[in-house]
Amino acid sequence: MLLHNLGRLSRARLLSGGAGALWHVAVVGSGPAGFYTADQLLKGDPDVHVDIYERLPVPFGLVRYGVAPDHQDVKNVTERFCQIAGHERCSLLANVRVGADDPEGAAHAASRPATIGLDSLSSHYHAVVLAYGADADRPLGLPGEELGGVYSAREFVEWYNGHPSAAGRSFGLGACETAVVVGNGNVALDCARVLCATPEQLVGGTDIAAQAAAELAGSAVRRVVVLGRRGVLQAAFTIKELRELSKLNGSTTRLLAPADAFGAAVIEAAAAERPRKRVVDLMAKLANGDDGLPPPPPRAPARREIRIEMQRSPVGFIGGPSIDDGGPRVSAVRLKCMGLEGLPGSSQRAKPIEGTEYEVPCGLALRAVGYRSTPIEGAPFDAARGVVPNAGGRVDGRSGLYVVGWLKRGPSGVILANVTDAAETAAALLADRAGGGLGFGGDGGPAVRVELAQQGAPVLGFGEWRRIDAEELRRGAASGKVREKLVAVDEMIEVAAAPGHRA
Ligand code: FAD
Ligand code: NAP
Repeated sequence: MLLHNLGRLSRARLLSGGAGALWHVAVVGSGPAGFYTADQLLKGDPDVHVDIYERLPVPFGLVRYGVAPDHQDVKNVTERFCQIAGHERCSLLANVRVGADDPEGAAHAASRPATIGLDSLSSHYHAVVLAYGADADRPLGLPGEELGGVYSAREFVEWYNGHPSAAGRSFGLGACETAVVVGNGNVALDCARVLCATPEQLVGGTDIAAQAAAELAGSAVRRVVVLGRRGVLQAAFTIKELRELSKLNGSTTRLLAPADAFGAAVIEAAAAERPRKRVVDLMAKLANGDDGLPPPPPRAPARREIRIEMQRSPVGFIGGPSIDDGGPRVSAVRLKCMGLEGLPGSSQRAKPIEGTEYEVPCGLALRAVGYRSTPIEGAPFDAARGVVPNAGGRVDGRSGLYVVGWLKRGPSGVILANVTDAAETAAALLADRAGGGLGFGGDGGPAVRVELAQQGAPVLGFGEWRRIDAEELRRGAASGKVREKLVAVDEMIEVAAAPGHRA
């Protein structure tokens, strides 16, 4: 029973022991970094068994809960992850949180995941790889940030992607004409695109969460203002995403930048790097000049308008009346114009220009200024850099502990960046094993299951994910979408437990 999650071959080898017997690695986190590391380990050693731990009942990390619902081509990478999870020497243990008990989970005791401390996990494995990503926010630290209507992009993204923590959330879009998005990365553009997309664009061929699709369909948003604190050479978004935004049917994308934003020195610096040149060329096409004065007061445009404002930084959020007695709600963002210091290039810094403050009235403000990793008890953490300190994936001062992905490098880089990163971490681990540097480990997942069973929360394997997947695809087909995600943890667990479940 305890071994039910192992393949036939693994079961036989585990029980045989001795030379060539399996050794065990736990990977904490089932996002791209975790899966690519498992893949490298499985390919690199025929005797390793990899258990992937995931705190949610479902796998895939930000591919499921970050990548936008209209980017199904990107989400298709999960097919590769399913092949890895289906490997006879790989097991998924979902609904298991590694680390101290989740304080947020206390309010939902019935749907809490099982938990296991890192030290306890380490005692069952030859090695542990931390791949738990970055699922907290970076605050701006500005006055008024606590107002209703001011959210992190993470909260908004999780909502439209059907994350369990966003169940029942509302962004008040029915009463909001202007939304401001702070930040100039691809997450900011994802948020702007979703806010401006038509219901047809949002539903057909997507897996947007039903609650979000319904609220967005009744949205009163006419304008989205995207703020970049630096200049056109430093925008963090990429050409594909900017082009997609500029071509969004039903919306107009304009760029507002200081008059000298596209000067000769800037164009020359952009030309030195092809991807940058393409972004700057498109930005120049979208630009309609800026006389240095605050933009004219908003009028309600017939089409939705996306306005990317460069060299603008928020200095605070202004409160207005509450909606539905929910406390004071944001009514405007106060901005300052920014100059640039240094030679034209990616490292130029933004510098406030005194006396240039103005307000943009809005009913929603999203901080899209990056995600943030948090520490886990039992592992070192560099709070300044927001990473687990490491050398090539080996965690500083902790034999048998490794790190990969956003937790290793910081919260940036696309899915494919995790392939080379995982190769480095897996190579370090396999070299340590070959050199006899890993201590004796326990039996891995089966032994851990004994410890977890006492907690009562079900541990979900890959077979259970297949049931949830099938149910989501079935519901999606019925509602004209690729997938209708289950949002509530209780429902995921119920579907996982009941083969042939029909809602
Ligand atoms: P994650 O994907 O975050 O995976 C970490 C996993 O660990 C999660 O499943 C989490 O639930 C789990 N976990 C967390 N804590 C614990 C714990 N204590 N115990 C057990 N499990 C735990 N890249 C692209 O190439 N294309 C895109 O279109 C794209 N869109 C993106 C959109 C957004 C909004 C964001 C934020 C990123 C996007 N990316 C995109 C980047 C891509 O998602 C990342 O490169 C990648 O997901 C990072 O992988 P990771 O495995 O390090 O982290
Ligand atoms: P990001 O690319 O690092 O962008 C963060 C943005 O926030 C930057 O423009 C940054 O400006 C700005 N910022 C930071 N602090 C700020 C502050 N205090 N005030 C104002 N602005 C501030 O992060 P992200 O958008 O979260 O994306 C994370 C990663 O996921 C990226 O690698 C991204 O490419 C990837 N991703 C990819 C896709 C896709 O491929 N379609 C979609 C989404 C995300 P400065 O540069 O001035 O600091």
